[in-house]
Amino acid sequence: MIELAEKGIRLSKKEIDTIKTKRLRTVVKYAFWRSPFYRKRFKEAGVDIDSIKSAEDIVKLPLTLKQDLRDAYPLGMCCVSKEDIVRVQMSGGTTGQPVIIPYTRKDVEQWKEMMMRAFCIAGITSNDVIQITPAFGLWNGGFGFHFAADAINAFVIPTGAGNTRNQVRFMRDFGTTVLCATASYPLRIAEVAEEMGVDVRALPLNKMLLGAEPWSEEMRKQIEEAFDAIAYDIPGLTEMGGVGTVGFECPMRHGLHIWEDNYIVEVVDPETGETVDDGEEGEVIYTSLNREAMPLIRYRSGEVSAVVSRERCECGIEHMTIKRIKGRTDDMVIYKGVKFYPSDIEAILASYGVRHYRIEVGNGKIAVKFEGDEGIAEKVDKDIKEFLGFRPKIEALSHGSLERFEGKTKRLVRVD
Ligand SMILES: [Zn+2]
Repeated sequence: MIELAEKGIRLSKKEIDTIKTKRLRTVVKYAFWRSPFYRKRFKEAGVDIDSIKSAEDIVKLPLTLKQDLRDAYPLGMCCVSKEDIVRVQMSGGTTGQPVIIPYTRKDVEQWKEMMMRAFCIAGITSNDVIQITPAFGLWNGGFGFHFAADAINAFVIPTGAGNTRNQVRFMRDFGTTVLCATASYPLRIAEVAEEMGVDVRALPLNKMLLGAEPWSEEMRKQIEEAFDAIAYDIPGLTEMGGVGTVGFECPMRHGLHIWEDNYIVEVVDPETGETVDDGEEGEVIYTSLNREAMPLIRYRSGEVSAVVSRERCECGIEHMTIKRIKGRTDDMVIYKGVKFYPSDIEAILASYGVRHYRIEVGNGKIAVKFEGDEGIAEKVDKDIKEFLGFRPKIEALSHGSLERFEGKTKRLVRVD
């Protein structure tokens, strides 16, 4: 399967376009005939499925919303019979109707293959000791890494989430070389390691695959420096099959390469749904071309990004490049007419060495709280004013004042 993954990475633009067109035509018909939801939705939108001939025709198709998936609970959007399902994962919040993503055997193989593309780019091999810290359970994180790590016969340490002291102990005692985690977790690990008297820079760890939450370039610098290791951004959306499926970071760090033979990505204006120009920020819409149990057509992800390039990248990869995910549309904050994402503030804080922070928004006010010196507060105030154009209340706190998380970290708190 490694050969298959390598071949997928190296596809030429021409090969990608051929596969993409063929798969789009197939998946539209497949969804129409197999899913009562899509048949109804396409009919309502007056879509003639035979008129979908090329990737450009995708705009003729209606969008799929997260609410559609909720309404379809448990398996209302599924295109296969229950006997063909081998597992489910879950997406979405902790409240309300769960969003269930079913997988056939072929879907699990697809997940594995896409994750293996990431491993190939990062140079992860059977000689690596891979510690998997995202949870194993209904959330997809743990399993996504596990399937590929197991398939390449690496030394897998499936710790799952939590128990940070044990994570540090295993990293040291087993000589972990690859850490898979949410983006905010490594700095928590570093903090606990320090308390334990373990120097993380001296550990054999040399690669990290981080995702599940937006993180700025400045935060990356801090993580890489803290561990003396390379940190890769791994995107992934449960609705598209889970962590590692849609693409992987460009080794030259030009953005994320989207596996266009498996997914079509569009960037649209979240208000109008119209495609925005390349380079312009908008909401990412995904179409899964190669999934069997529940392919999704023009799915509104809520993720914010922009097309960087559709041309061959300097790294040799010919799959399109988008910006690293900046945030989700629901994380956007509008304050005094200025729109921004928590990651914009993180970039400023992290450039002064801040690792732990929280943004509180509500009642017409914004407060930025961080652990660090009073002196930093003045600089942060000046930078936010200059780059974002407003002045929040800024509060410097002593080390350890903010709550620590072992998975995703709550950076934005709405206090209405
Ligand atoms: Zn590249």
